[in-house]
This record gives sequence, structure tokens and C-alpha cells, in this order.
Amino acid sequence: MGKGYCFGRIAGWRAVLCLFVLIDFLRWLSIKISRWLICISEVGTLGVGVMDKWMWCPDPSIGYSVRSAYHLLTHLIPVTLAAHNDVIWNKVVPLKLSLFAWRLLNNRLPSKENLNRRGMHLEDSELCLGGCGVAETIDHLVVGCDMSSSLWIKILNWLGIFGPLPNVVTDHVSQFCNIFPIGKVSQIEFQVIWLACCWSIWKKRNNRLLAYKELSLETLVENVKITSWRWLKTHKHDFDMISTRGGLFLKFV
Ligand SMILES: [Zn+2]
Repeated sequence: MGKGYCFGRIAGWRAVLCLFVLIDFLRWLSIKISRWLICISEVGTLGVGVMDKWMWCPDPSIGYSVRSAYHLLTHLIPVTLAAHNDVIWNKVVPLKLSLFAWRLLNNRLPSKENLNRRGMHLEDSELCLGGCGVAETIDHLVVGCDMSSSLWIKILNWLGIFGPLPNVVTDHVSQFCNIFPIGKVSQIEFQVIWLACCWSIWKKRNNRLLAYKELSLETLVENVKITSWRWLKTHKHDFDMISTRGGLFLKFV
């Protein structure tokens, strides 16, 4: 009797277990079917003789329009703005400089370190061309090396500023462009000078690496002044000087 009772109890538990499994399976099946029905409704009618066509999901009744695409991009898709977005998309500098700035601030320029990381093993040394014995990273090349820091010091002197700047490009730009926080216009002008410096350093490096040309520090400083003045003058024809802290004015010539 005891044995039969145990057998009956075990069979009962198995039945309950099977019931739970069956319920779970049916629940899973109903979810799958409902998802499949949603997919079918999104795809539209399928069948022989029905032509496939593109459909603009954000506005299926009217179809694609620039307005709906703009609305999608600006309101429906969360966009994380890149750091230093205002520097990258500075309205004064030419487009090629905006692209350069984006690559610079996102460490996408083909420095020796970046080329090496992508599997391009260079025939010559992977060290900085300045002869300092340090790997050529973007941070080192643009703000850390003696070659570039001499230029930054000259430019800071020209601006009437004394003090150290960070050795990391992203920190460097933040500090440099906010030295004289007297307004949006001034900040844009300092961004232009910062970009002109970086551009000159990058061109000097490329000239040295690819054309075996050397530019003196004085030439580099003049290049920065002329380039930034030209960009500012093109944007604003009556531009003559930059106003700085305390009502001082920075002349280019
Ligand atoms: Zn160096």
C-alpha cells in the first residue's frame, strides 16, 4: 500500500510539472506568434503578383520627405553630441579644417602610433620626428613635443598669456579656447587660432616626413597668424583685431 501511495504521489507531481511546462510553452508560443504577426503587418501584403516597394516607416501615408527625415534625425533618434562640437563645426574655418578637427579630437589622424595600431608597420622609426625619443601619438605630436610646445609658447606670448597648458589635446583645446571668456565671438576667434596652430603643426610634420622640408619656428608662427587672420577676414570683411580681456585688442599685423 505504501509503495502504491508513493507511486501515485510521484505521478501526480509529474503531471503538475508537465502542466507548468506546457503553460510556459504556450506562453512562449503566443509571444512568438504575436511578434510574427507584428512583423507581417509591418512588411505589408505578401503574395504572388504583389510588387515589392520601399516604404518610409516614419510617415507611411505620405512617404519620404525632407521634413520627416529632419524630424526623425532631430527629435526621434537620440544623438550624443561629440565633445568639442563647437570647435569641430566652427563656422569660420573651411570645411577641410572641420574634418581635420574631427579627426584630431577623435584621435583619427594617421599618426605613427595610429598606423601601427592598424597593422601598418612603418619602415622608418615609429618615434616622433622631433628626435625626442617618444612614440608619435597625437597628444605628443600636437601639444606634448618640444617642437610643438615651442610654437604654443610663442602664440601664448603673442596673446599676452603666461602659464602651462595640458599635454592632452582635448584638455588643451578646452583651456586654450576659454582663456578669455568674454563672449561667444571671442571664443570662436580663439578656436580659430587654436585650429590654425594644430593645422600648422600637422603640415610641418607632414612636410618633414614626406617632403623632407623644414620650417623654422618663426615661419610657423607667421603661418598661424596669417592663416587665422585670413579665415577670420573671409568670414567677416571688416575684421581687424580680436578683443581680449580687459578691453585689450590683439592685432595680427
Ligand atoms: Zn617629439
